[in-house]
Amino acid sequence: MSAVDAHAAGSLTVVGLGPGSAAQRTPAVSAALAAATDILGYQTYLDLAGPFAAHQRVLASDNREELHRARHAFGLAAGGARVAMVSSGDPGVFAMAAAVLEALDHADDPAWRQVRLAILPGVSAAQAAAALAGAPLGHDFCALSLSDNLKPWAEIERRLALVCEADLVLALYNPRSKARPDQFAQALALIRARRAAHTPVVLGRDVGRPAEQLTVTRLAALRPEQVDMRTVVIVGSSRTRRIERPDGGCWVYTPRFY
Ligand code: SAH
Repeated sequence: MSAVDAHAAGSLTVVGLGPGSAAQRTPAVSAALAAATDILGYQTYLDLAGPFAAHQRVLASDNREELHRARHAFGLAAGGARVAMVSSGDPGVFAMAAAVLEALDHADDPAWRQVRLAILPGVSAAQAAAALAGAPLGHDFCALSLSDNLKPWAEIERRLALVCEADLVLALYNPRSKARPDQFAQALALIRARRAAHTPVVLGRDVGRPAEQLTVTRLAALRPEQVDMRTVVIVGSSRTRRIERPDGGCWVYTPRFY
């Protein structure tokens, strides 16, 4: 089949690359990448997804232009291309799948609805970091993005307070960026006021990548400087426990039974 077939709508597959290494990527995602005529995404994720074959078109776009990128993908697919849109981790967790569906929801071009759309899951950062540390997400947990690019900060604080009240384990994505240097400290102060000082905290940085780093600490000892946009932060609930390991490290887990 040619790259662009005017008689048939093409496909759009939104894939999750997993946290980094190809070993943590599903075979379905690898197959979709190999079959694509066009691969779209943020440059860092395209680097993780490659290398690509010479006949494959690769289009990098700015990370903030999610809706724009989603519309572009539909345009290509409606013209017959087999498009793969890459996200890190899982595409449905703070990533492209929702942007793609939002673009479809607001589409006025009927050809977009003919596009064969599929979303292929991946291992999300919190899952990969949790596995390195043990099983901190072993009981009820929630995932929160601390970025206020797409929602007001007051809403983030409100949710953090409610999550603490519900005693859920917290998986924090987009925790601290150069553009938002102080908000993580604010979030931390809010959590510290509601959770015990000894609560286990797991920091997974560059999980699944060559620079992978796992830190297990406690809520009272956590410093904002330990955290950046390449880190996922897991804050335990009142039930989360540590087990010392013979190598000096420890396992962290949240028991499933009360
Ligand atoms: N869709 C992604 C999340 C995208 S939001 C997923 O499911 O994992 C981006 C945030 O995810 C980062 O700021 C960081 O908090 C986290 N993240 C993504 N990849 C990571 C990795 N390899 N190691 C640690 N954190 C990661």
